[in-house]
Amino acid sequence: MKVQLVNIGKKYEGRENFTIRHIDLEIDDKEFCVILGPSGCGKSTLLRMIAGLNSITEGDLLFDGKRMNKVEPKDRDIAMVFQSYALYPHMTVYDNMAFSLKMRKDKKTVIHERVTEAAELLQITEYLYSKPSEISGGQRQRVALGRAMVRKAGVFLLDEPLSNLDAKLREHMRVELVRLHKSLDTTSIYVTHDQTEAMTMATKIVLLDQGKVQQMGKPSEFYETPANLFVAGFIGSPTMNVFHGTMKDGLFSSDDGLVSVEPGPADKDKLASHEGKKVALGIRSERFIAGESDKNQITVTIDVIEMLGKEQLLYCKLSNGKECVISEPGYFRYTVDEDHKFHFDPKGLHFFDEETTSRIN
Ligand code: ADP
Ligand code: MG
Repeated sequence: MKVQLVNIGKKYEGRENFTIRHIDLEIDDKEFCVILGPSGCGKSTLLRMIAGLNSITEGDLLFDGKRMNKVEPKDRDIAMVFQSYALYPHMTVYDNMAFSLKMRKDKKTVIHERVTEAAELLQITEYLYSKPSEISGGQRQRVALGRAMVRKAGVFLLDEPLSNLDAKLREHMRVELVRLHKSLDTTSIYVTHDQTEAMTMATKIVLLDQGKVQQMGKPSEFYETPANLFVAGFIGSPTMNVFHGTMKDGLFSSDDGLVSVEPGPADKDKLASHEGKKVALGIRSERFIAGESDKNQITVTIDVIEMLGKEQLLYCKLSNGKECVISEPGYFRYTVDEDHKFHFDPKGLHFFDEETTSRIN
């Protein structure tokens, strides 16, 4: 099913301002769309409007072109999985999964077929007759997914379904969810505050901040061409290094005078209109190259080294104490508390207008 949001806004009763506003979004059939953003930015509000659990203050919600604003949740052809997925403790896994189908009086044979099919996909067949208390957290999360899957809805809505799991299981479930999405072939809308989940699972990301869309597109676009400083800071781990400065005679100079950069040919043209203006330079940790160079070089003191195996993160300080993070392959041994020289890969530079915070294109 195709889901469209046209100029959608939500103002909660008793609140002065809109919680979210002017959201335009098209989610194609079978897409895996992730709504991403910091806590409190309005993700759940948006998802609950799609589900029909929150009323829509303004704008239109369309499913396959049909306006859904006033349609009851049960008639919307959706299934939802929440972060707190309370299962009925006195019921078996089977009965938990069958519950909503029983309530809508589906035939016993249909219910059995759906439950066993979902259980197989989720690899919980052997627990079908266990109680929730007898299975692990990860298995319970699968039951919650199964409970939604059996409904065979046109849209699958998930609100932070992995945030109660430990890190290892979360990593595992990310892959499982992508596999599941492939085999279900259903439009999925997934809410999370975790940029890694968004980057690894989405076919489309919508990044919200304070109820407004900051950027929309494929994960790679977020990484390679962040639309503004907020996106640049939100996507990617470690966080992008940002230096604040001014463009002068085609060169970027940081305000503290410690970073001077000559942009590559492509960036030079774009920056021509910013001569004399305040500009922020962003550079990801992996875009530093070890060693001296006749230009685009910085000197840092390595403060802390995080050895991650295949790579190491070098937490550095410039001579004025400003911090920056550099990632290097894991095999080289760096010494802490000594000066090291690195230079910038000119292809890895991001420039932003300080006034608007927008990317300079
Ligand atoms: P997120 O899911 O991104 O963390 P929410 O959509 O839950 O954010 O909340 C967005 C904002 O809306 C928050 O400021 C929150 O306090 C407010 N909010 C959420 N639900 C209600 C409600 N029922 N009534 C009033 N304000 C609400
Ligand atoms: Mg939420």
